[in-house]
Amino acid sequence: MAERAFDDRDGWIWLDGAFVPWREAKAHVLTHALHYASSVFEGERAYGGVIFKSAAHARRLKASAEMLGFEIPWTVEAIEAAKAEVLRRNGLVDAYVRPLAWRGADKLGVSGTGTRVHLAVAAWEWPSYFDEGERMRGLRLDVAEYRRPDPATAPALAKASGVYMIATLSRERAERRGFADALMLDWLGRVAECTAANVFFVRDGALHTPIADCFLSGITRAAVIELARGLGLAVIERRIWPDELPSFSECFLTGTAAEVAPVGAIGDIAYTPGAVTTAILGAYADAVRPRRAAA
Ligand code: PMP
Repeated sequence: MAERAFDDRDGWIWLDGAFVPWREAKAHVLTHALHYASSVFEGERAYGGVIFKSAAHARRLKASAEMLGFEIPWTVEAIEAAKAEVLRRNGLVDAYVRPLAWRGADKLGVSGTGTRVHLAVAAWEWPSYFDEGERMRGLRLDVAEYRRPDPATAPALAKASGVYMIATLSRERAERRGFADALMLDWLGRVAECTAANVFFVRDGALHTPIADCFLSGITRAAVIELARGLGLAVIERRIWPDELPSFSECFLTGTAAEVAPVGAIGDIAYTPGAVTTAILGAYADAVRPRRAAA
């Protein structure tokens, strides 16, 4: 059976401080965000009823809004409480959580000053971003035509809807060409990230990952760096140029939705998910599981 459309499901969505039935969580067609992309969002996962890095996601949501020039009228603590309540109210334990903040329909023009800022939180079951069989073989990545924007051209560090236009185009093109996703270069042509995940490479047992100063600095990326160092692995954040890609032995992606996803190839460069990727996969799976309080 086909998956139900996102506007035709049962459950409750938190909208501006109250719970509304899922199908009634609507915005008007003259909403500023729909016309001018004045919206920011998060993607989070709950494991065993607990959202991994919930506070970090709430802080990034507020920071993304500030980068777009508006303030979300809820504190980090209130956003965290709303997310937890959404899970409880919908009876969800292992789930994806999607907070979204946007400028409303009070005014319609390029300047959104004076519009009310809305916040919604929805959650749903979402097992694995990538097909499970494909994940273990390693994803095949295309190289995107679009590049991540120069931070002087767009608020490149914000998790803002507008920045996703090129990600959507790149991912759709990759899928048409038979790939799972696309590796995107930054504005100078250096390796950046995928359309919704950060990228790591392995060489001689050390991890190499691009410096996240002109694309989304993933919360999973930060967690994986910490976990890798905890495992005694060297992690080198540096500029990586595409001509280096054949010199790496392993490659994997990190992201809330993707989790840790081994890569089998970028274009015609092959990688074999090996010991380092397996160690990181295991460490991440342990880290996301909520700890039971000591008796
Ligand atoms: N880059 C982009 C463009 C993304 O959409 C995501 C997913 N939020 C990531 C990286 C990974 O970020 P995180 O680990 O915080 O989910």
